[in-house]
Parts: sequence; C-alpha cells; structure tokens
Amino acid sequence: MAEQVTTPASPLIEADVEERVGAVDWLTSSADREMKKAPGEERAGALLGPVKVVHAYWLAGMSCDGCTVAVTGATAPSVEDLLIGRIPGVPRVVLHHPVTSVESGEAFMHNYELAAEGKLNTPYVVIYEGSIANESLASETGGYWCGMGVETVDGQNKPIPTSAWLKRLAPGAAAVLAIGTCATWGGIPAAYGNPTGAMSVMDFLGQDYVSALGLPVINVPGCSPIGDNFTETVNAVLLFLNGLGPLPEFDELGRPSWLFKDTVHQQCVRGGFYEEGIFAHHYGDKECLVEIGCWGPVVQCNITKRGAINHYGGCMNTGGVCIGCTMPGFPDRFAPFYKRSPGSTVSSTASRTTGSFIRPLRRLTMQFQNREPLWDLKDQVPSGWGHIDDPGPLKKVTHFFYEKLQHFDTETPGRTHSYEQYRDGYKAPGTRPGQTGAPPVHEGLQPHHPEPGPED
Ligand code: SF4
Ligand code: SF4
Repeated sequence: MAEQVTTPASPLIEADVEERVGAVDWLTSSADREMKKAPGEERAGALLGPVKVVHAYWLAGMSCDGCTVAVTGATAPSVEDLLIGRIPGVPRVVLHHPVTSVESGEAFMHNYELAAEGKLNTPYVVIYEGSIANESLASETGGYWCGMGVETVDGQNKPIPTSAWLKRLAPGAAAVLAIGTCATWGGIPAAYGNPTGAMSVMDFLGQDYVSALGLPVINVPGCSPIGDNFTETVNAVLLFLNGLGPLPEFDELGRPSWLFKDTVHQQCVRGGFYEEGIFAHHYGDKECLVEIGCWGPVVQCNITKRGAINHYGGCMNTGGVCIGCTMPGFPDRFAPFYKRSPGSTVSSTASRTTGSFIRPLRRLTMQFQNREPLWDLKDQVPSGWGHIDDPGPLKKVTHFFYEKLQHFDTETPGRTHSYEQYRDGYKAPGTRPGQTGAPPVHEGLQPHHPEPGPED
C-alpha cells in the first residue's frame, strides 16, 4: 500500500497573510472589514468631502459580462482609480462584484446582506448589468432565470433571483445605475420571441422609483457600453454625493446627456464623405457606411468621438456600421442589420446630388491651396516626386475671382500699407516677393530711413 503523503501546514498563518496582503486590501470587498476601519483614516490627504467610502453592489442579470469587461478597460477614470480612492473629492469605492471580487460563497453574499439589512455605515450604490427576467415565468415550472446566493425557504435552499436583490437594495441605495443596453432598455434578451419576459431596470422598478438621494435610475447604455462613459458617470455621481459637484445632467431617459446628446453621425470620422455624397459599397471601404446599413444619423452614441478603449477603436473608426446598440429600440427596431435603413435612401440621395456640385468646386479650390504662391509666379512646381499639372487659364481665372471674394472687405495678406514697409529703419517687402512693388528677394532687409506711420 502506498505511503500516504501529508502536505506540510502552510507557513502563512492567518495573521501573516493579513500582513502580507495588506496592500491588496484596497481591492478586496469585505464590507465587514471596511466597517471596522474608521472611514478615510488612510489617505486622508487625498480625500475631500464628508463621504470617504462608498460600497458598489454589482448585480448581473441576463448578461454576457461584456459590460464588466468594458468597464475594466476604462481609463478616465479607471476602475483602479475609483477602487484606491485616487481622485480627490471622490469617495473610495469598495466594489462587490460576482466575477471580480476576491471573496466568494457565503463571505461574498454576506456583503449584500449587510446592505439589504441596512447595516452598512457608509452609503452604497447598486449597479445592474444584464436585463431582468420575469422570474414568475420561471417559477411556474419551479425554476429560475438568474440568481445569486441561496436562502432557505420551507426548509429548502433556493437560489435568490438577482431581481430580488435589486428589489431589496434599490430603496436604500444612493443611486441605481443600469449599465449596458440589456439593463437600460432590455437589449438582446428582450428581443421579439424571447421566453424570459426580459425587461430593463427602469421597467422593473417602475416610474415612481427614486433612490435614497432622490435619483431615478441612471442609464448608461451600449452593447457593450464604453467603459469610460460608465466610470465617468459614476465619478460625477460620487462627486455629487460628496457635495463637491452639481447633479450631473441627465436626459429624459436618464442618460448622461453630455455623453448621449449627439448622434453618432454628428461626430463620425466619415461624416465628410456623407456630406459630399460618397458612399462605401463594401465592408472595408473607407467612405460613409450608410448605404451598407449604418444607422448613425439617428443613433445617440459618442463612440466615434471617444473611441472604445483609451480613445482607440469604435465602430466607424474601425469599419463597422452602427446598428443602434445604445438605443431603446435595439435590436428589433434596427434589424435586419445587413440592410440599409429606408430613411437613408432619401438623405443619401440628397447628399449625392448636392455633393456632385460641391465636390468639383472643392477640388478646384484644393488644387490652388496645394500650391505655394511662388509656384504660380514661376509656373512650375519643383517637386521631384511627380508632375503637377498646371491649372490652366480657366481655372486660374476662376481662382482669381475666388481670391477676390475671399479678401473682399478684409485685409489682404502681406505688408500692404506704406507705414508697414519702412518700420524700424529697415526696408521690408510691401507685397509678396516677386509681385509688383516688392523688392527683389535677394536684396532682403536693408537699413532705410523710417517713414512715419499713423501712430508716429
Ligand atoms: S458611417 Fe454612419 S455615422 Fe458615419 S457618416 Fe456615414 S452614416 Fe453617418
Ligand atoms: S456606433 Fe452604433 S453600434 Fe457602435 S456603439 Fe454606438 S450605437 Fe452601438
């Protein structure tokens, strides 16, 4: 019989561990431990305002965890900034998250129980990711859709639906934030034909819900949302909670209006192509994507301006059409995604028509803006890279009148006044080199008697 091997006891007894992982303490989420600390006794210099610590209870309903992934990529501020209380005036956030928390099982759920029972000594916010299933549909067959933790009912351990946690935690929360389109508007789980009766946080809590701070549900949509949109909103709400900032501006649907007021189209990197009526025909083309299915002109989203992560990426920036993922009508009202929207036919026809006039005029102007004035005088472009066509007499005449219009009723460039020609005893060119009245270029600046100007 093989000899039984016993592993030696870990040299890291509990006290040692506590000591050794002291620095990581900021990233764990034990509400018990936080309550034993005097809030804010550490980092007192960085923290301002009366609230030093805020607990954030993350709940995940019918979600893919994409919102969590997106938020971990946020940079302004980053999750780490919030967790370690790096931002002056913003309370340190203690995050209780089913995926990222160090605690698990009963120790993890205990944090939620403390908040639901009103035993925390600091404010808390609730963050809901994913849509909320109609649990009564599942309970008809003795099942459940989404749960976290268990409780004993009639002698039996039963999963606690995440919607039940929302119901318990929402009334005492300083704010309830719905993150991602599933939580804000139902999203993909609430699409036509779903069996779960999926709904948004707003649908679940109802119109009359307000948090302990008096705020209705705050909605940061996107599938997935831009992580920075979320952390920036949390940051603004926490500043408000601390009395150090105004209530951030939210629109009538609870979206941060500074982020979701404008349409994708208004901020799109391809907007110039649309305006000139030049459209992509295939994925991978660089022009406006409206004719291959982009809904950007009617979608409120800031991804083209902000990028997906750290100002990089974002749908049109990387070649994707907008399918309206931030909008309450997503996905059904934007399907099928591969077909152009009916409205775009009208607007793209209009911009194609106006573009066909405007484009040649712009190219003509561009041809002259691409030339040094000296090249016009020499009738030659000294480039070794290739031959540049002469604009020809008709274009030159057109441009002559264009410049007349450009400088009509304004100062033309150059020293055009007599008192400017002889300042400080030096003769300076009164017009551009080579033009009538200007000294030859090689003569440069020469001492000369100053001519009195109007100020002399
Ligand atoms: S790609 Fe979409 S958002 Fe961008 S300009 Fe075209 S229609 Fe507008
Ligand atoms: S551009 Fe459209 S598809 Fe892309 S994130 Fe914004 S709303 Fe969603």
